[in-house]
Amino acid sequence: MVEIAKAAHHCAMAIARKALIIGGGIIGVTSAYALARNGWAVTIVESEPQVARGASLGNGRQLSYSHTNALASPALLPQMPSLLLGHDDAFRINLRPSLPFAMWLMRFLGNCTRRAFRANTLACLQLAQESRAAMDDLLDQHPIAFNQRKAGKLVLLRCEQELLAAEASTQLRQSAGAELELVSPEQACEIEPALAHGPEQLAGAIYSPADETGDCSHFAAELLDLLQRSYGVTFLGGNSVNRIARQAQGWRVQHEDGSELESDHVLLTTGHQANHLLAPLGLAQPIQSMKGYSFTAPIGIAAPALSITDNARRIVFTNLGEHMLIAGIADMGDASKQVDPQRLAVMRRAAQASLPYAADYDAVDEGWAGHRPMTPDSLPIIKQLAPGLFANLGHGMLGWTLAMGSAERLARLLGRPT
Ligand SMILES: Cc1cc2nc3c(=O)[nH]c(=O)nc-3n(C[C@H](O)[C@H](O)[C@H](O)COP(=O)(O)OP(=O)(O)OC[C@H]3O[C@@H](n4cnc5c(N)ncnc54)[C@H](O)[C@@H]3O)c2cc1C
Repeated sequence: MVEIAKAAHHCAMAIARKALIIGGGIIGVTSAYALARNGWAVTIVESEPQVARGASLGNGRQLSYSHTNALASPALLPQMPSLLLGHDDAFRINLRPSLPFAMWLMRFLGNCTRRAFRANTLACLQLAQESRAAMDDLLDQHPIAFNQRKAGKLVLLRCEQELLAAEASTQLRQSAGAELELVSPEQACEIEPALAHGPEQLAGAIYSPADETGDCSHFAAELLDLLQRSYGVTFLGGNSVNRIARQAQGWRVQHEDGSELESDHVLLTTGHQANHLLAPLGLAQPIQSMKGYSFTAPIGIAAPALSITDNARRIVFTNLGEHMLIAGIADMGDASKQVDPQRLAVMRRAAQASLPYAADYDAVDEGWAGHRPMTPDSLPIIKQLAPGLFANLGHGMLGWTLAMGSAERLARLLGRPT
């Protein structure tokens, strides 16, 4: 009897130690690292055969630890009519008859106050700082190669209005310890000589010398490899989950092929697709997708070494060595996976107008499209949704930057297995 009781106890302990992560993007893989370090037996289930094939694949690769401005801001309000009518080339909000979308939009507009913008930007900065520290800790222990470059970053400001808004948000972030400063056009060109070849006058720029770049999908693949080799993490690729159901104890996870898994602890890291699984449980979260694009082209004759953001055009340039990566465009209400050649052409024209010699724009590749999982306040949702069911979702425009810190917060929420 004692032996049976011991075995049952051992079995219950084994189940209680299991954490099942659904979604193998950058958030799922970094969460696996934080949980496995805390003693959890982690399994990642992912619909694609490999990790980081969703939004984490072709993103701008910028670790923008100092640039954490929330999307909803007082400055965006006057632009809303133009965004809703499709008059803004870089940012479109396609209205559609959907209650979750209407509610999301109302909450987003509610975050466009000065007070909310300040609070959201500072909260995001705090998480970004935690992310940088967690990334440094990881790399101290495990020197993962992912083309990390401490490149520094310049955000270009084209007019007085942008400069004024930038002054306020720069001061705000400086006061919270962010390493960034406003610089004059001349100083910007000294810091990044390639800017002297731009066709347009600058009003100024925000310079953040400590911001970094790195290949997000490569990092995720390398981290997974480490997790499988050294932390006993299991990866089940090519397994789409189509339902999660509550049981008397824990959760049952059903795959498209009919197979099932059970776990006491389930974590959702399914990015913009989170509500497919959560809505049937009545646990839908305020997440809407914002589609974006990227392309690469051979490096041009005046390519910036630093990361560049053209604020007004909503595009970023990242120097990859032999190629320049350009990412941007914000389309809300387009759930398709396909690259729309017209939208890609818009981005190519914007990049060419911004930095004409940064890349060989006659030789751009076929492009990539991905979906940023957006929340109304630009802050991720890291919380327990139901007993044993957790979320690490909604990292929007900054998921690569915020991944490591979010994973640590999530691990603190779950605690150590008992
Ligand atoms: C154009 C663009 C540029 C960007 N640039 C930057 C940048 O420079 N810096 C930055 O910090 N961030 C950037 N981002 C944002 C960043 O890429 C995202 O926030 C981040 O990748 C989100 O990670 P995720 O793991 O939540 O989502 P994803 O990477 O989309 O991962 C979710 C995973 O869940 C899987 N999944 C979904 N449903 C299921 C299911 N039912 N069963 C099994 N698996 C499932 C998907 O296959 C996917 O692999 C950019 C985004 C875009 C689109």
